[in-house]
Amino acid sequence: MPREGVYKTYVPAVTAEENGENELTYWFVFRENNILLQCSQDHRWGVPLAIALAEFDISARRIQYLGKLEGRPCYSAEALPDAVAPEGMRFRELRSIFDDVEESVFLLAGKAIQIVRWDQDNQYCGKCGSAAETQKTERAKKCPDCGQVRYPQLSPAIIVAVIRDDQILLAHSVNFAAGVYSILAGFAEPGETLEECVQREVWEEVKIRVKNIRYFGSQPWPFPNSLMIGFTAEYESGEIQPDGVEIEEAAWFKAAALPLTPKKMSIGGRMVAWFVENYGE
Ligand SMILES: [Zn+2]
Repeated sequence: MPREGVYKTYVPAVTAEENGENELTYWFVFRENNILLQCSQDHRWGVPLAIALAEFDISARRIQYLGKLEGRPCYSAEALPDAVAPEGMRFRELRSIFDDVEESVFLLAGKAIQIVRWDQDNQYCGKCGSAAETQKTERAKKCPDCGQVRYPQLSPAIIVAVIRDDQILLAHSVNFAAGVYSILAGFAEPGETLEECVQREVWEEVKIRVKNIRYFGSQPWPFPNSLMIGFTAEYESGEIQPDGVEIEEAAWFKAAALPLTPKKMSIGGRMVAWFVENYGE
């Protein structure tokens, strides 16, 4: 079911406390889409700790304070493209660490890279071109000349498990690996509610009408800046007709005869597991 409390040891903040120097700090260092991770002797991957970034012999374009994890300060940092990982560490593609780190670390790494990108993308005001100023009380950049404010961008997207009796609607998207099926998903459009988004996406992708839409849970997905909002829905009417553009194939599946589906850690995988638990034999 929805995850709760994974952030219980993380306290977000925008500005570091004074006298915060000389503390052992978690460094979320990014070289483009790659995060610097340390591999322990028992082959566990984690975010490296150091008082100063210079200990890794890496220089950063900019750093951003993220708050505290387990009582320790956390920073994200944008390393130069030619940065080299020190011994015992490696730059790894963020997507690839999903299975190798604790969920709280993955979530915070996802936040960190989005803060790095927001910082990169908003150095100047998009309206008048003046240098933007980073605000101290909220995660925002403000133009001193025209007042335009830029917050980190989030793109809400729905993901929906449509149920018909004891079957679930699964689809193969053109973007998936061969043979992999998942529940339907799509980005919310300006001006629509999430429930309307569920109805529109299911209709556009497979020409099915749904009813009894219920919230399931959510998951931040930093590729590049989605917030996945999960729903369950019941089949109301129609016959499956894949749109042929995004969706190549779609069908109803019983719990005992599922095709390959996403891993359980993703919300899509968690919702399929929920279906099996509730609709399996
Ligand atoms: Zn401006």
